[in-house]
Amino acid sequence: MAKCNNCHGEGAVDCAKCKGEGIFKAGKEKKDIPCPNCKGTGEVKCSVCNGTGFRK
Ligand SMILES: [Zn+2]
Ligand SMILES: [Zn+2]
Repeated sequence: MAKCNNCHGEGAVDCAKCKGEGIFKAGKEKKDIPCPNCKGTGEVKCSVCNGTGFRK
């Protein structure tokens, strides 16, 4: 098994929706809310290795 080169072996990548900040600007008022895509963590599971950090 080799390290996943999409997430560099971490199993997670920066959320594209909030650019890894975990905060999403909602609506006209640009209210800060926890990003619904990553649940405020700023990271999402790597889709290439399915969160394992390794690829076959
Ligand atoms: Zn996010
Ligand atoms: Zn990966």
